[in-house]
Amino acid sequence: MSAIPKHPELSQRFNADEPRVDWHDATLWWIREKRDKAAHTLSEDWEALRAAASAIKDNVLGNLVDYLTEFERKAIANGAIVHWAADAAEHNRIVLSILQEAGAQRMVKSKSMLTEECHLNEFLGENGIDVVDTDLGERIVQLADEPPSHIVMPCIHWKKEEIGELFHEHLGTPKGNADPQLLTEAARQHLRDKFLTRKVALTGVNFAIAETGEFVVCTNEGNADMGVHLADVHIACMGIEKIVPRREHLGVFLRLLARSATGQPITTYSSHFKSPRAGAQLHIVLVDNGRSQQLGREAFRNSLKCIRCGACMNTCPVYRRSGGHSYHNAVAGPIGAILAPNLDMSKYSDLPFASTLCGSCSNVCPVKINIHEQLYEWRQELTRQGKVDFGKKMALKVMSTVLSNPGVYRSMGKMGRWALRNIPGMVNNSMNPWFKQREMPEAPQESFREWYLKNRKQS
Ligand code: SF4
Repeated sequence: MSAIPKHPELSQRFNADEPRVDWHDATLWWIREKRDKAAHTLSEDWEALRAAASAIKDNVLGNLVDYLTEFERKAIANGAIVHWAADAAEHNRIVLSILQEAGAQRMVKSKSMLTEECHLNEFLGENGIDVVDTDLGERIVQLADEPPSHIVMPCIHWKKEEIGELFHEHLGTPKGNADPQLLTEAARQHLRDKFLTRKVALTGVNFAIAETGEFVVCTNEGNADMGVHLADVHIACMGIEKIVPRREHLGVFLRLLARSATGQPITTYSSHFKSPRAGAQLHIVLVDNGRSQQLGREAFRNSLKCIRCGACMNTCPVYRRSGGHSYHNAVAGPIGAILAPNLDMSKYSDLPFASTLCGSCSNVCPVKINIHEQLYEWRQELTRQGKVDFGKKMALKVMSTVLSNPGVYRSMGKMGRWALRNIPGMVNNSMNPWFKQREMPEAPQESFREWYLKNRKQS
């Protein structure tokens, strides 16, 4: 069996299309800048808001069982049916059993990263259920038969001309037409038919409120509302960390979420769901799938504060230049690289190394998760657990020896500069991963230390 491709290999594939990398990088940076403007034009103090959100989540993580049981009690009193799933497989079985009980073979689904994490679409497909994703970006990647590459903008790696071709093939739009208005109108008509004919609708959950047993779903397209209002059965799937204690806390999170995600003051629709309509059903599935385990890992527990805004991805220099698919996990980017090894250390041992540790992710995170510190912690933990490959381990050992011995460091520097100047092929070859897709620097004539001794030492 061939080894699963890891981040370096997958990002190398993405990097092969240089214009796409440049455009991907610039687009995400543009969104990052919109986020900065939105944060700085807020009348309240942004930092105070982040601190408040982080403190609320600290409280939630410290009292998770109490808030979850309070939520369950209130939700049942409101008329909802509450299910608990220990892992992805149980979550998928529960959703399937609800569909079977309703006698439904088709379902509409609004955006939910949890269902991506559980591979729900594949599971339901294997069991004869037709699932249609109704978020436009999600629908595009679904038609293209690939996973989302970003948690907020699932098809950010697609150009409009490519979407035009895809819609021509699947929705019959005129060939060569990539007019966004024409394409969105085609998607609208296509989805309208699905909304009208599906009796079951599934949504994610952005925030669940313990105090009232209600939950909030945020979308920009209103597709969650369309699906739910026309269906007889609403299934809402949520990770157990989505709880906030009281309704008043929503004000903090809703202000932070949209500004951090896209630079908008608020998402277009922030819909509250509490009770089923008369004659309809509301199911809420509370999913653990490794979250309790992460809660028990002291160094990583506050990754559970994440509100899935995607800001850490938009700012990450590695994500922007390697694309979301290179993370081979439902949640990509810096936060995905913290969450994934919790689920499977061997499969995702590469991800915490896919970071410069520059700290830009931690700076933008609206709930103040110390993302880059946790990535560094994971590197150490994975090395302790023997999950880091031999080559990397040896390279780090050699670097450690070189960097902790000034004499060795100076000699190696001298040899490296000489080799780069006189036999560049020794360094600039395909065996050296740093050489690939990069222009190597010209070797300087002297080291900084030599320059310093000559020019500054006496003064
Ligand atoms: S870790 Fe922070 S910045 Fe990244 S998606 Fe989660 S909340 Fe947003």
